[in-house]
Amino acid sequence: RESLRDIDPEMYGLIQKEKKRQIHGLEMIASENFTSRGVLEALGSCLTNKYSEGYPGVRYYGGNEYIDEIESLTQKRALQAFDLNPEEWGVNVQSLSGAPANFAVYTALLEPHGRLMGLDLPDGGHLSHGYATLTKKISATSAFFETMPYKVDPKTGLIDYDFLARTSKLFRPKLIVAGISCYSRNLEYDKFRSICDDVGAILLADMAHVSGLVAAKVVANPFEHSDVVTTTTHKSLRGPRAALIFFRRGIKKKQPTKKGAKDDQVETYDFERRINEAIFPGLQGGPHNNTIAAIGIALKEASSDEFKSYAKQVVNNAKQLVKSLQDKGYVFVSGGTDTHLALLDLRPLGLDGAKTEKVLEAVSVAVNKNTCPGDKSALKPSGIRLGTPALTTRGFREKDIVEVANYVDQAIKLAVEINKSNDNKKSSLVTLKDFKENMKRSEHAKS
Ligand code: PLP
Repeated sequence: RESLRDIDPEMYGLIQKEKKRQIHGLEMIASENFTSRGVLEALGSCLTNKYSEGYPGVRYYGGNEYIDEIESLTQKRALQAFDLNPEEWGVNVQSLSGAPANFAVYTALLEPHGRLMGLDLPDGGHLSHGYATLTKKISATSAFFETMPYKVDPKTGLIDYDFLARTSKLFRPKLIVAGISCYSRNLEYDKFRSICDDVGAILLADMAHVSGLVAAKVVANPFEHSDVVTTTTHKSLRGPRAALIFFRRGIKKKQPTKKGAKDDQVETYDFERRINEAIFPGLQGGPHNNTIAAIGIALKEASSDEFKSYAKQVVNNAKQLVKSLQDKGYVFVSGGTDTHLALLDLRPLGLDGAKTEKVLEAVSVAVNKNTCPGDKSALKPSGIRLGTPALTTRGFREKDIVEVANYVDQAIKLAVEINKSNDNKKSSLVTLKDFKENMKRSEHAKS
């Protein structure tokens, strides 16, 4: 009955500090957002107390009549939010987060060591799409499955679909992932579909970053061409930290990859059964019912007209941010954005992403360092990823974004100055102390 402040003042104090940080700063990490009060209330509700292994109507525990209703309602809202016909599509709402959702799909549809292709991490893909270096299998996806990356063209920053078509014919993957963590252009799902059909591969679209924008119909829609679609629920969709897995219902017959294959040699997929079994009992135990309810609330919100205006504004703000910075001479990978994010290439300034991220952090702007196409090392990325979902939730419009761009520009200019003076001192480190001192000096000079 006591409040958290009384029970555990230490933890309470830390949560309050983080809240203050979130309110005080400019949140420009492309994968972050601010959820509604309703979502937060569901997350902190009594639903966290309940065990409910299984699915609605078939549970391994008693007392699940309301939990069944909650899960079914969230499933229904998930299909409605993306305008999906329940006879054609089903959805699993139990996955704990984006990376485990992708892993569940791989275990559902591939044999151990089955082959899959995803966009390379340094080119804008996600770890869970199979990242490995020449010497190390970094992601569990690459450790338990055979993975081969496709790439963007370093000159244009755009996905090289011809390269994917050629290499997939050699590698013959069973599954291709169309998904991005740092790529600012619409994906061409029709091209992915025809490449998959040529080699008999399943098309998995991971729309984690853009699912809120897909729901609002302001970016390309993956559903028409995909067999399975995964998404996190906490990015542009603005829900709790979790994931959804959409799958086509019915039995899909795969294109025979051998000419003259007999019927019993043609593989068939029951996506629904395989994916549900991969989540439970394959990889997870009891679902997180508080999160499932919170997803349902976020999906209701995402189906509103207000959310559609929000998503439109997210894209307009990203375009404004790019334009304002381009007008100041900054260079963006692929020349701009169709979505909520943009990748600023710092190479022309002689800066790297790590230093710039630190400098921006010192002035309360949260961004993340990111590789640019052609970077030699993922350890020293030469870009920063900028996103607008969180700022837009706070009500920022184009005119505010112009000011954000001025502020970011000012900070980057100082970073360049510090970098030059550090170079003169034969040191390559920009420290926060250096930066804060410079900032004070420049403010003093201005005043
Ligand atoms: N898929 C994509 C495209 C992502 O960008 C991310 C996270 O950024 C994930 C999956 C993983 O999501 P999570 O961090 O919830 O595991």
